[in-house]
Amino acid sequence: MMNVKTHTFDAVIVGAGGAGLMAALYASKSVNVAVISKLYPTRSHTGAAQGGIGAALGNMEDDHWEWHAYDTVKGSDYLADQDAVDVLCREAVDTVIELEHMGLPFDRFPNGTISQRRFGGHTNNETGKPVQRACHAADRTGHMILQTLYQQCIKNKVNFFDEFHVVDLIRVGNQVCGVVAYEIGTGDFHVFHSKAVLFATGGWGRCWEVTSNAHSLTGDGTAICLRRGVPLEDMEFYQFHPTGIFKLGVLITEGVRGEGGVLLNSEGKRFMEEYAPTIKDLASRDVVSRAIFLEVQAGRGVNGKNYVHLDVTPDTVNKYLAEAGEERRISREYIEAKLPDIADFTRTYLGIDPVEEPMPVQPTAHYAMGGIPTDVDGRVVIDRDNTVLNGLYAAGEAACVSVHGANRLGTNSLVDLVVFGRRSGVHMADYCRQAGLPDLPENPAAEVMAEFERIRSNKGSLKAYQVREKMQKTMTDNVGVFRTEATMTKAIEDLRQLRQDYLNVEIDDRGTKFNTDLLEAWELGCLLELAEVTAVSAQARPESRGGHARDDYPKRDDENWLKHTLCFREEDGRYSLDYKPVNIGRYQPKERVY
Ligand SMILES: Cc1cc2nc3c(=O)[nH]c(=O)nc-3n(C[C@H](O)[C@H](O)[C@H](O)COP(=O)(O)OP(=O)(O)OC[C@H]3O[C@@H](n4cnc5c(N)ncnc54)[C@H](O)[C@@H]3O)c2cc1C
Repeated sequence: MMNVKTHTFDAVIVGAGGAGLMAALYASKSVNVAVISKLYPTRSHTGAAQGGIGAALGNMEDDHWEWHAYDTVKGSDYLADQDAVDVLCREAVDTVIELEHMGLPFDRFPNGTISQRRFGGHTNNETGKPVQRACHAADRTGHMILQTLYQQCIKNKVNFFDEFHVVDLIRVGNQVCGVVAYEIGTGDFHVFHSKAVLFATGGWGRCWEVTSNAHSLTGDGTAICLRRGVPLEDMEFYQFHPTGIFKLGVLITEGVRGEGGVLLNSEGKRFMEEYAPTIKDLASRDVVSRAIFLEVQAGRGVNGKNYVHLDVTPDTVNKYLAEAGEERRISREYIEAKLPDIADFTRTYLGIDPVEEPMPVQPTAHYAMGGIPTDVDGRVVIDRDNTVLNGLYAAGEAACVSVHGANRLGTNSLVDLVVFGRRSGVHMADYCRQAGLPDLPENPAAEVMAEFERIRSNKGSLKAYQVREKMQKTMTDNVGVFRTEATMTKAIEDLRQLRQDYLNVEIDDRGTKFNTDLLEAWELGCLLELAEVTAVSAQARPESRGGHARDDYPKRDDENWLKHTLCFREEDGRYSLDYKPVNIGRYQPKERVY
């Protein structure tokens, strides 16, 4: 038997991205907190966020948090819970100011206020025209948020366990009492015994072939919760960002279009004028991704391939700015200052200078709208009646509160992290101050240790990468930008087979230290479950809404389907579905046009 060490804390936070660190910062003001992260904290994906964080500061033009709320609800195709959206957009304003006060170096307008740019779906509600709402630090906004929060957590003496991989949640009845982690450097197992646990483990873009997500984004926390009896909400809604670098999936921020960049097909036509006459290239992501897909399908992909051009060269941008009657013009220097990382990526990965040539782009798997269901204080709720699971919290991309509904607006994830990270941290600390330390069950690590031993010593004819590639291919072909009954049936069949194949995976490294082979095989198990939950939830929804677009049911169906999906994992490993109502507030559903 391997060595198991036990640690005790009031609160354990799994994940050191923006959501985990914001929660840790607030919880550590009054209770003893551990942050456990499989990556070194500042390598979390939040650090890759480019374009900006949305808040109706109104620094350059008129703006109101209620306008931000309306845009978010419309962007969500009316599936977002409007009470949560109000919290998001109202608290965005003071959270951004708070980040500034922590020392985050935002870009500035000449008058000294935080610089804001346009982003998809963010509008002046009176004119319907784009509004400047995305606060940014060049195109490295997430990097600056992560560094700022990490410094603050160090200052607050948060206990970090870096390169510890959490592999199980300890739950007794309706109470959680900690997690089990695997120390990557030694292969030791650790039990973290606590009053409360928060999962902020990020997304699972690695279910698809072409993705903007880092290799580490395998949905571990979400899959762990599913295995411990928590249903997953709205998993059929997965966002494909319109502008990933062709074949690589590396993200080109929407900020490029926010600064004036346009999408062009093989005929050099700005096709978004047809699909979204008012805000054109700055329509919501689901709308733009579908438009690219349809252009390619109609034979207007560039060079006969499945990509289009994203053009931010000053000549093109200035032509369209002039046509729109705007005074603003852009220059090489402006692009180098506002989009330095993008310019750098495209020069490195494509050998293309974006100031002189357009970039080849295609939709890329980007963001999970669904996830672990929570209330507005980050408490995890486990059924249609919103019953709370005591001591369990979730925040960030791993969670579903739900503010993004069927489609997230750009800049709203970073807001979600800091607003709901903060609220979860505050609530968790209050909870820990009044709750006692629950008793641990006997041998809480035994079950997951046995599974690790099985993977490590298994004899089989397949490698983890072979199973992973098949999963990514079936998800891309069958549960992508467009779906039908037939494609989803195929995906579910394939995924069931792949779950069997998974038991036949043999790894090469049988050692204990830094055994990434073993961890990747375990992560694949998480991806396979989340992929199947996505396909099962999608197949059961016969309508098109936001990121879930069905060729066979092209219309939204509010009468029957204005509701959230909950997908449960049964004891025998099958999935079952239930539904819960959407919280509608000021905004009644109506047709969505941009
Ligand atoms: C390229 C890119 C650009 C983006 N740009 C923007 C943008 O401009 N604006 C915007 O609003 N959104 C943007 N997004 C989306 C946004 O960045 C993410 O949704 C958000 O950062 C997720 O933050 P998080 O805190 O939930 O998780 P992450 O930042 O992904 O962090 C996850 C954490 O969980 C830890 N973890 C995971 N599994 C385990 C485990 N098993 N055990 C222990 N630790 C674990 C990891 O180590 C990591 O610390 C972008 C996303 C990408 C990929």
